[in-house]
Amino acid sequence: MRVHTLGSGDPEFAVVACLHGDELCGKNAIERFLAAKIPVEKPLKLIIANEEAIAEGERFLDEDLNRAFPGHENSESHEDRLAAAVLDELDGLQVLDLHSTVSFPEPFVFYHRLTSHTRRLLRATGLARAVNISHVGGGLINHVDGVAVECGLKGSDEASEHAYNVLVNFLASHRIIDHDHALSDPDVYRVTEVVPGAGYEFLGENFEEVEVGEVYATKDGEPEKVAGESFFPVLMSTGGYDHLIGFAAQRLGALSSLEDDPSDD
Ligand SMILES: [Zn+2]
Repeated sequence: MRVHTLGSGDPEFAVVACLHGDELCGKNAIERFLAAKIPVEKPLKLIIANEEAIAEGERFLDEDLNRAFPGHENSESHEDRLAAAVLDELDGLQVLDLHSTVSFPEPFVFYHRLTSHTRRLLRATGLARAVNISHVGGGLINHVDGVAVECGLKGSDEASEHAYNVLVNFLASHRIIDHDHALSDPDVYRVTEVVPGAGYEFLGENFEEVEVGEVYATKDGEPEKVAGESFFPVLMSTGGYDHLIGFAAQRLGALSSLEDDPSDD
């Protein structure tokens, strides 16, 4: 794990890249930001998490780091140990976590629970779409006060460009740097179903509504996948996951129209 702390004092905010070692957009954005030497007006922590997986060109070495939280300090598993170390670095901080995908070229942002903090973090990304992923559970943002951005297609220059733009907008929105920025009022979706299936061809488009009765995935020798109710596909793809087509979501409306989620405690 590589940690850069900029400015003086205790940071309130952190940006995390490469929980998945084969998703380099966040690392590229952080390195571009560091090279630009933009002065920070408040302290900031930048983390490139799974350097060992990056070096191997792999998503992970022993297990998916983003499914390993809270992790264990003395584990046999590299990612289980790293998860504990990452959480330690992020203790008490508000977090922007940068990822990329094989399923959708436009950036959007995930969150777990809508609070005054996450509402502000979602708006600070400047993005047009936000997705409540709490139905799926796990993930870093279930363990910290934070949001996770899918920046675009894995390995694409556009994903790195989106990651950089989100990073700069996020920092400027929180007055960490002095730069043009815009707070957005994203359209919010909530994942309500994990859609299983291996080897299916996904026929729809992410964030475009699938109507009741519509065939949205096919596979030779298997019944077609037909929508039992209308839904919005999220991270659905052909061959993106081993055992999933992706996720089905409902649209909740503009962020500004939504109440905070009730707290768990
Ligand atoms: Zn990822």
